[in-house]
Amino acid sequence: MDRLAIVVPCYNEEEVLKISSEALRGVLNTCIEKGKIAPDSFVLFVNDGSKDRTWELIEAEHALYPGQIFGCKLAGNVGHQYALTAGLLTAKDLADVTVSIDADLQDDVNVIEEMVDKFHEGKDIVYGVRKERKTDTFFKRTTAQGFYKVMSMMGVKTVYNHADFRLMSKRAVEQFAKYEETNLFIRGLIPLIGYETDCVYYDRKERVAGESKYPLKKMLALAFNGISSFSVKPINFIVGLGIFIVFAAFAALIYALISYFSGHVVPGWTSLIVSVWFLGGLQLVAIGLVGQYIGKIYLEVKHRPRYNIEKLLTDEEE
Ligand code: UDP
Ligand code: MG
Repeated sequence: MDRLAIVVPCYNEEEVLKISSEALRGVLNTCIEKGKIAPDSFVLFVNDGSKDRTWELIEAEHALYPGQIFGCKLAGNVGHQYALTAGLLTAKDLADVTVSIDADLQDDVNVIEEMVDKFHEGKDIVYGVRKERKTDTFFKRTTAQGFYKVMSMMGVKTVYNHADFRLMSKRAVEQFAKYEETNLFIRGLIPLIGYETDCVYYDRKERVAGESKYPLKKMLALAFNGISSFSVKPINFIVGLGIFIVFAAFAALIYALISYFSGHVVPGWTSLIVSVWFLGGLQLVAIGLVGQYIGKIYLEVKHRPRYNIEKLLTDEEE
């Protein structure tokens, strides 16, 4: 029988923790009763340096259900992507299959059973895909969908309308662990792993409580990170633009020579100052973009540990 670990990154989730714990234990128990997963399957809550009582609540849940609720306390806030990685890499040593899900229950916990069924059919990765985004605000919906469109335009392979709600077999997580990059965009990495994959579909609900920990600023940062970590298209674009401008400059030169020899008096200042500004700006953009990549190389070569697990609550004695 396969042992399932449900990995839940939590940042300031005191309002939802008990509700998620109950819902996820419900899912575990249903699957255990039906003989789909091992009785020692568990939920692993990863506390991502919360400033509220999230960790105390995880400890309390662990005390109540020591065999089912595990906790992992990160020493500080490292962000959703790293917290999730910490959870997955911890879970892979304890379990045969993992499911990652957000703490706020926006993703439908009931499709976890369907994911497990697909795992038994031999799929190594099962993506949870949102059918629609009725409950998200218009703003969140359009920005998030624009995000997927831009990503695919930039050549980053992602599953449309899939966030980080997915099932992964132990060997898929083991492979994922080999991607040791610092600029982490998990959604872009998973399709690179390979293996047989499948999707399950669900309606995304509203947060059960609390507020989104992903404001626009963090979303834009994630989007830019996704693009610049996976794609060199922005650089190609700049190169293309550069070539185009060189040709345009030739055309302008010919035009200037013709005007000169035909005796036109060209009030040169305007065109000169415009091109100085334009080229100056363009160069800044180009240098800035190249700089972004150099910045990433810099971070990557440092090879810093991406998180630091301070405490681990499991059913094994220390
Ligand atoms: N989260 C985290 N660290 C952070 C920010 C968020 O672990 O720095 C977790 C959060 O607790 C939640 C998940 O990431 O379980 C997704 O966040 P949220 O639901 O706020 O994002 P949204 O659904 O609004 O995009
Ligand atoms: Mg959410």
